Amino acid sequence: MTAPVNLRSTEDYRKMDAAHHWHPFTDTAELNAKGARVFTGAEGVWLRDSEGNRILDGMAGLWCVAVGYGRPEIVEAVTRQLQDLPYYNTFFQCTHPSAAEFAEAVTAVAPAHLNRVFFTNSGSESNDTVFRLARVYWDCMDKPSKKQFIARRNGYHGSTVVGASFGGMSAMHGQSDLPIEGIHHIGQPYWFGEGRETGMTPDEFGRARARELEDKIREVGADNIAAFIAEPIQGAGGVVIPPASYWPEISRICRKHDILLVADEVICGFGRTGNWFGSDTFGIEPDLMSIAKGMTSGYVPMGGVMISDRVADVVIAKAGEFYHGYTYSGHPAACAAGLANLRIMQEEKLVERVRDDIGPYMQAKWASLGDHPLIGEARMTGLIGAAELVRRKEPIERFPDAGTTGTLCRNLSVENGLVMRAVGDTMVIAPPLVISREECDELVARARKTFDRLA
Ligand code: PLP
Repeated sequence: MTAPVNLRSTEDYRKMDAAHHWHPFTDTAELNAKGARVFTGAEGVWLRDSEGNRILDGMAGLWCVAVGYGRPEIVEAVTRQLQDLPYYNTFFQCTHPSAAEFAEAVTAVAPAHLNRVFFTNSGSESNDTVFRLARVYWDCMDKPSKKQFIARRNGYHGSTVVGASFGGMSAMHGQSDLPIEGIHHIGQPYWFGEGRETGMTPDEFGRARARELEDKIREVGADNIAAFIAEPIQGAGGVVIPPASYWPEISRICRKHDILLVADEVICGFGRTGNWFGSDTFGIEPDLMSIAKGMTSGYVPMGGVMISDRVADVVIAKAGEFYHGYTYSGHPAACAAGLANLRIMQEEKLVERVRDDIGPYMQAKWASLGDHPLIGEARMTGLIGAAELVRRKEPIERFPDAGTTGTLCRNLSVENGLVMRAVGDTMVIAPPLVISREECDELVARARKTFDRLA
């Protein structure tokens, strides 16, 4: 690791931050009472804070740093790009070499029928783009009444008005009177939290949850619905890994009723589930696919929408101009970072590594936490997993006041040198894809120590 960049004291940074920096998803009064943790550097899977602590990043930042921290290949590619062409737009019949190359490279690793990418700067912007593009598609198909959307409770699709409306987070909806009109939500295929006590098998439960889509389509009318959007594995909702029956049934229903299927791959994309995309892992054939995060490993902000031939051919032939885009769509530095990131993933065979080697190794280690008296279930696909905190295992009893124990556990975990995230009382992890076997052992040992301290 290089020398710390901070020139002032931790306290100075905390004061400046408390006075002037409004943090996302943060209770500012609570934060200011204790002060923010100041991170100053990182390498591989390890973070360093301003007080000299070395912390294992079990969350790859916010699920994004696939290739790990401190990769000189990306730094050099971005530096070169900033020297050659720091900015030019991709509007008005313009492109630049990095945008063209990255568009080709990213579509080459995507499912075969997705041959175009619309660049954005974030997952939220990607989902706003989905909203507009799906409506334009149905206009072009002479079905202008197909304007509404179905998504899932507890799904997460971003923070913009459309992203938060697609999302099924009740706290977000409550604060700003969302969702906007015409966005409906169905149940999630959350076996541990909602399926166990139904008397159904996981597969029966998965099918039942998928059939809620058909019920909702019948209620709203297929002629009024543009698309169904969902994450292959629901990430921010607590790493909800669907039963095997779920996605085939969802796919069947979308085709039967002529509803576009949108996979939000912002977390699952770029190797997280052991294939390039979660759609590959679950056999989904999406019409549109939202991407971000692992696309550049977070080194430079970027997102995108991958567009199927079905949608692209119609919109290109019939819509004329798509009146949509962002000043920084296809930003040269982001494209350069994305290209270097993809090159690393391919040269180091990171996706294959997650599928065949480190993924299975970590899954076995993580599953072993299931024997802990406070863990009701430890699940993982690829390198994305969750551990359910419970007060009692036989029969399962959750802690009262959901979220209190999870938050305590998250804080204890950082004290133990491991970043885990709490979603209610579900502890989630998604480490960088470059994590070594020794680091997997260390991660699980630190998680176990945290659970022991909680007991
Ligand atoms: N979609 C999913 C599945 C996400 O997990 C996220 C962010 O966590 C988003 C969309 C929003 O992405 P961003 O925060 O880059 O706007």
